[in-house]
Amino acid sequence: MISGNIGDYLDGVKTVAIAGHVNPDGDCVGSVLGMKMYLEDNYPELQVDAYLENLRDVFRFLRGSDEVRMTAEEGKAYDLIILLDISSRDRIGVIQPLLPLADKILCFDHHVTNRDHYTWIFNYPEMSSTAEVIYHYMDPDSISEKCAEALYMGIAHDTGIFQYSSTSPVTMRVAANLMEKGIPFSRIVDDTYYQKTYAQNQIMGRTVMESILVFDGRLIIGYVKNKDMAFYGVEPKDMDGIVNELRNTIGVEVAIFMYEREPSVWKVSLRSRSYVDVSEVAQKFQGGGHVRAAGCTMHGSQYDVINNLTLYLEKELAPAEEEQTEKS
Ligand code: AMP
Ligand code: MN
Ligand code: MN
Repeated sequence: MISGNIGDYLDGVKTVAIAGHVNPDGDCVGSVLGMKMYLEDNYPELQVDAYLENLRDVFRFLRGSDEVRMTAEEGKAYDLIILLDISSRDRIGVIQPLLPLADKILCFDHHVTNRDHYTWIFNYPEMSSTAEVIYHYMDPDSISEKCAEALYMGIAHDTGIFQYSSTSPVTMRVAANLMEKGIPFSRIVDDTYYQKTYAQNQIMGRTVMESILVFDGRLIIGYVKNKDMAFYGVEPKDMDGIVNELRNTIGVEVAIFMYEREPSVWKVSLRSRSYVDVSEVAQKFQGGGHVRAAGCTMHGSQYDVINNLTLYLEKELAPAEEEQTEKS
């Protein structure tokens, strides 16, 4: 059980920057804005800047979302930079050049693949979300309702709404405590997780329709080329949820979803159901993540990328021996 206090890391600190990873997901946004609100509410003397690039519109209901910075001021030296949910150093966005200028860097995370060093790093791969991690560094009585909204959203998103195996009894207790702040928990989940624009639904439908099922139905692959993204008018931030939809197919152990970020550069998402460690697969291709959810960037045509991944996954997804005997 962790218990710490964010206040212990604020000695002599006047300026703070809080940042997450590129293409911020619900946990990243909830953690960054939750931390911003907590510091502003409880340490009003601090000057706090939050950095989030390409913030999705559905997250705009959170307090402070209209103040987030998308670009970093050249040469700005913060007393403290707080990095949240980053997974690896190369996923930090615009704030990257400011890291060497900062006096101290504090990192909270829950990625098994995060092995970087900072002034302080608190990484708990067994925790559901970074929002859950940072809750333990806050005084529960000093968490405002608005802050609780952000943290609850982060936990809900990274647990697939309290479904994934990373959801623990502690996760549920933290969520219950946040719920007791009087947050509109039902609306938060519906508005930010389930609701999709028509174009998002279209691209998801098309990807599922054109997906490929291989290795006796154990692996499913879906991809979107950048010309198709342009046709439907969708951006990277509209792709959330597609890989989970693919994984929901009965019999599938691993789902791959990839979209072309720029010609021949693919953002790859990997999900598994029960036995393949996809963080290992992602690390083979300089990515990272969790055992059941990981990602990486790959280059080439869609066929090159699929070939490289399937070559590696073939062994992992080979049928168990007794099954092979049954079939022969
Ligand atoms: P995604 O498929 O983008 O939703 O990512 C799944 C998980 O893997 C998330 O926890 C990400 O933080 C992590 N992840 C995705 N891409 C990378 C990458 N290139 N390097 C390290 N971690 C990643
Ligand atoms: Mn994240
Ligand atoms: Mn996370």
